[in-house]
Amino acid sequence: MTAGPLSRLIARMIAETGPMPLDHYMAMALGHPKLGYYMTRDPLGALGDFTTAPEVSQMFGELLGLWIADAWTRQGAPVPFVLAELGPGRGTLMADLLRALRAVPPMLEAAQIHFVETSPVLKAAQKELVPQATWHDRIDSLPQEPLFLIANEFLDALPIRQFVRTARGWCERHVALGAGSTEDAPRFVSVLSPTPLPSDEILPKAVRAAPAGSIAEISLASLANIDEIATRLRDHGGAALIVDYGHARSAAGDTLQAVRAHQFADPFDAPGEADITAHVDFETLAEAARRAGATAHGPVEQGEFLRDLGIDTRARKLKTHANEEQGREIDAALKRLTARDEMGSLFKAMALTAPGAPEPAGF
Ligand code: SAH
Repeated sequence: MTAGPLSRLIARMIAETGPMPLDHYMAMALGHPKLGYYMTRDPLGALGDFTTAPEVSQMFGELLGLWIADAWTRQGAPVPFVLAELGPGRGTLMADLLRALRAVPPMLEAAQIHFVETSPVLKAAQKELVPQATWHDRIDSLPQEPLFLIANEFLDALPIRQFVRTARGWCERHVALGAGSTEDAPRFVSVLSPTPLPSDEILPKAVRAAPAGSIAEISLASLANIDEIATRLRDHGGAALIVDYGHARSAAGDTLQAVRAHQFADPFDAPGEADITAHVDFETLAEAARRAGATAHGPVEQGEFLRDLGIDTRARKLKTHANEEQGREIDAALKRLTARDEMGSLFKAMALTAPGAPEPAGF
C-alpha cells in the first residue's frame, strides 16, 4: 500500500535531518496544519475513533456547569470574566454547561465564551452549537481577566517526549526509519538517542531513580498550558477544571497509545490516521501549577467527583421524564462515566485556583 502524504513528509524530514523526538512526530501526526489527524476530521462519536464523556451524556457538561457556577459565585461573582474551554471537540460540553448556567442568569449574561481550538473541522461543529464563542489557536491570546476554564481530554492529546533509562543514563526515544523503509512505504520505528540527557532535572522527580529499562515521559506542551493557566489565576483569580485520563502520581512506564475506529493501533503506523494520546501526569502538572503561583486541588477520580456533584440525583431526575429505553440509556451512561472499571477511576479531575480562593466543590 502506498503511504499517505503525511507519512511521506515525516519520512523525508527524518531522511534529511535524522531521527526526530517523539513530540515532533506527535505534533506532526496530530497537528500538521493541513494533514494532521485533528485537522482533517471529526474523530468523536460512534462513527469516529473515540468517544468522550460529554458525548456519552449531557449530565457531564451540566454538572461541570454547576461546578463552574459555584466557583464563580464563591469568588464573589466577578464581572467581566472569561469562560474558556481548551479543545472543545464538537462543542457539546459547553452547550450542556451553558444550559446549566441558566440557573445563574447573571453569570450566563456576563460570560464571554472563548475556545482554544486548532481543528477547522471541529471549529465548524463548535460554531453550530455555540455561535457566540470567540476562537483562539493558543491559550496565550485569551483576554487577561478572571478566568473560569474547563478542559476535558485536551492535555492527553498534547505531544510527549519519552526517555529510557540505560547504563549510560536517560536516552531519548526518537522516531527513525526502519529497515526496508522506502519513500513509497516508509516504516517508522523507535530508536534511542546516541547521547544521554546531560541532567535528569526535566524528568518527574519520582522516576529519576527508576531502574534500567524504565521509561519516563514528559509533556512540555501540557506544562506550558498549565503554566499559562496558573499565572492567569494568580493574577486575575478564577478557577480551572482539568479532566483527563492519567495517573495521580508520577510513575515510570510507556503510556503512548493510538486508537483508530475504537481499536488500539500502532502509533507509528499511518501517522495522521489515528488518534495518538498519552496518560496525563497529574502530579507533575500540579507541581508546575504551584510553582507558577496557583493552588492545585486533587486530582480525584472522575466517578467520585461526579457523585460528589450529584450525578445520581441528576440521573434520577432525567429518568422521571424518560421512557423505558431512554431510562436504560441514562443508567448505562451513568455507569460508563462513574464505574471504576469504565471511566470512573482512570479519568481524574484536578482543579486550579488562585491561592487563598475558596475551596472548589468536589475536592
Ligand atoms: N473536549 C472534547 C474533545 C476532546 S478531543 C470532548 O471532551 O469531547 C481533543 C480536542 O482538543 C479536540 O477538539 C482537538 O481538536 C483539540 N486539540 C488537540 N490538540 C490541540 C492543540 N494543540 N491546540 C488546540 N486544540 C487542540
